Amino acid sequence: MPVAQKTFAKVIAIDGPSGSGKSSIAKELASVLGVLYIDTGAMFRSIAYVANIQQIELVEGEALNDFLNSLKIEYAVSDSTLIRINGVDLSDKIREHHVSALASIISQLPSVRKFLLDFQRSLAFDKVCVMEGRDIGTVVFPDSFCKFFITASVDIRAQRRLKQLREQGDNTITLEQIIEDVRKRDATDMNRAFAPLKKSEDAMLLDTTTLSMSDVIKILAAEVKFRAAHLGFVL
Ligand code: C5P
Repeated sequence: MPVAQKTFAKVIAIDGPSGSGKSSIAKELASVLGVLYIDTGAMFRSIAYVANIQQIELVEGEALNDFLNSLKIEYAVSDSTLIRINGVDLSDKIREHHVSALASIISQLPSVRKFLLDFQRSLAFDKVCVMEGRDIGTVVFPDSFCKFFITASVDIRAQRRLKQLREQGDNTITLEQIIEDVRKRDATDMNRAFAPLKKSEDAMLLDTTTLSMSDVIKILAAEVKFRAAHLGFVL
């Protein structure tokens, strides 16, 4: 009897904690491979941003469901627009510092995760793409053909975040506050009941504390190409 072929998703799953460098890495890897880049954190951030403006209580219930049903979310509609909700471009607003904490809170709610799980699967269905987040390799595409878990020390992650904020003109937050925020966010992301941040058993672990961006990209691109060739598909 012929052995059944194992099915797999052509998604390159990149997970890891905030500030590990995974967003820059995922974006660059997608560009090097010439495939779509999908930032799922931007989706949680945009919902958190709109919920905050509309003063939606962040608890499960009818009000939250009505709110989610009222959202029309659009991803990568153009080169300059990463994310839009109900026609409003939120690409820049979601990077404001307070939105990180709100996103971390809202991402604990099962109905929000379910809403975005469906959206993420429909976006990437049957496509070769790089999708980054916290639960891509474990929950969203557990059958992904290539998974990476990117991490780095808390100190280096906080320093990178500080640099980003300073570049955006935010001079109000200190390194110590960011270290505290990073620790808090890690604890919330890793300990939540639904789809917590964790390395999928079959993901390749990469610590970027001492690696340069170009080294990381070389390692990842080679691994993706090797696996794709092994499975017999073209990127
Ligand atoms: O990756 P980023 O820092 O933009 O994500 C913002 C927040 O959204 C994270 O702290 C995390 O709580 C949540 N998130 C998530 N699952 C994902 C992506 C992001 O829970 N796949």
